[in-house]
Parts: sequence; C-alpha cells; structure tokens
Amino acid sequence: METKKKKVKKLISLIVPVYNEEANILPMYEACKNAMNDVPSYNWELIFINDGSKDNSFAGLKQIALKDKRVKALDFSRNFGKEVALTAGIQNCSDDADAAIFMDADLQHPPSLIPQFIKKWEQGADIVASIRKSTKKKAFIKHIGSKIFYAVMNKNADSPLTQNATDFKLIDKKVIAVLRKFTEHNRMFRGLIDWLGYKTEYIEFIAPERMHGEATYSLIKLARLAVNSMTSFSLFP
Ligand code: UDP
Ligand code: MG
Repeated sequence: METKKKKVKKLISLIVPVYNEEANILPMYEACKNAMNDVPSYNWELIFINDGSKDNSFAGLKQIALKDKRVKALDFSRNFGKEVALTAGIQNCSDDADAAIFMDADLQHPPSLIPQFIKKWEQGADIVASIRKSTKKKAFIKHIGSKIFYAVMNKNADSPLTQNATDFKLIDKKVIAVLRKFTEHNRMFRGLIDWLGYKTEYIEFIAPERMHGEATYSLIKLARLAVNSMTSFSLFP
C-alpha cells in the first residue's frame, strides 16, 4: 500500500532572472547554497530564467542544473525583460513551494540576507520586501526620473509605491497563488505585489556593485517600465 509522502520540511523557491550574466551565475549559485545552509530546516529550489542572453549564461545554467537537481534552468527564445522572467519563475516554481524569493543574478541582492527574509516570514509577514539604502549618487537623469516617477505614481495610484523598494522580495504561497492567476502581459511586479495589500514587512540593505558585467536596464527600458507602471496602477495618464 502506498501512502502519500509526508512533507517534512518547508520548501523555498529562489527565483532569479538572467540576462547576460555568464560570470555571475556560478557565484550566485554558490551564494544561494551557502545562505540556505544557514537555514537547514528548509528545502529549497533555485529557478533561473534565462531571458534570451547573448552570452553563455544558459550553457552555464544547464551545467549547474545537471549537477544539482534543486536547480532548474528555464530558457526564453529572446529577451522579454525581467518582469516577464519573474512571471515565468512564479509559473514554474514547484506547486508545493511555501514561499518564493526574487533575486537579481548579479549579487546586488545579497543571498546572505535570505535567512532574514525567512525570519520575518516565519514571524507572520506574507510579503517581506526590501528597501535599498543608497551609498552613492545615482546618475542625475536616473535620479530625477525616479523622483518624477514616484511623485506621479503616488499622487494618483490606488496603492502608494514605497520609494527605493526593490524586487528583492519574499512572498508567501498565498501570494504565489494569486500571482499565478494574473495573466496581464506587461506586469510591474513591484506595483502588483504591493497593490494586493498583504501584510508586508521590510528589510533594509545596501546593494553592492554588480559582481561582473554591466547593468542592462537602459534608460529606454526604465522609461518603458515607468510608463507601463503608471498606466497599470494610476488612472492619471
Ligand atoms: N535582467 C533580465 N532581463 C533583462 C534585463 C535584466 O532578466 O532584460 C535581469 C538581470 O540579469 C539581473 C536583473 O534582471 O538579474 C537586474 O538587472 P540589472 O542588474 O541589469 O539591473 P539593475 O541592477 O540596474 O536594477
Ligand atoms: Mg544589477
């Protein structure tokens, strides 16, 4: 007679979008592994989404996934953007994941903070979000751009966005379930998750410089994201 295998440990799904990160993925994998060693009462899986990288990121991801069954490597046919990659991560994490954590692949969202996210979640938060404390000045145009963005959003949006909030975030399985039901094509994760109105706690962190390579969020892409966000979350435009 077969009995249903009882789930003993909770499962944390780590979701990481990847665009041209060939030099970062191995250090990222190691850092995640180390962080999860600090919370041994949890099982984990690591889902990389290759967002049409032009370098050898996907080959590297496949290699890691072959050696470590906890690692999955998804592959997009072309570059769709981080928001779409995060959406694919949520759609493809295990059905029995108890929580998911979104992290950048360049180690600017330090995996060593994972245990702190888990702790706040254990204490009852449905969402653990993070606020990035700035250390150095943003380029002037990005600085002004983000000021205007938050001003417009928060004057008119249904739910205010937290300034300097990042996509480095833990969400409980009930939030995963809700996100899986959304099919909107252009989603702004940050806004969407805040808009849902779940109990949220915050962690502050200082982002280090990206480990290797260059940030790919060009001004054009940031502007497009801002416009998408404003039209999705504010009636003003
Ligand atoms: N990324 C992605 N698709 C893109 C651009 C970026 O999946 O089109 C990933 C990238 O690999 C990284 C994260 O999104 O894991 C953040 O990108 P980046 O470091 O370029 O942005 P920033 O640090 O300026 O927020
Ligand atoms: Mg980065």
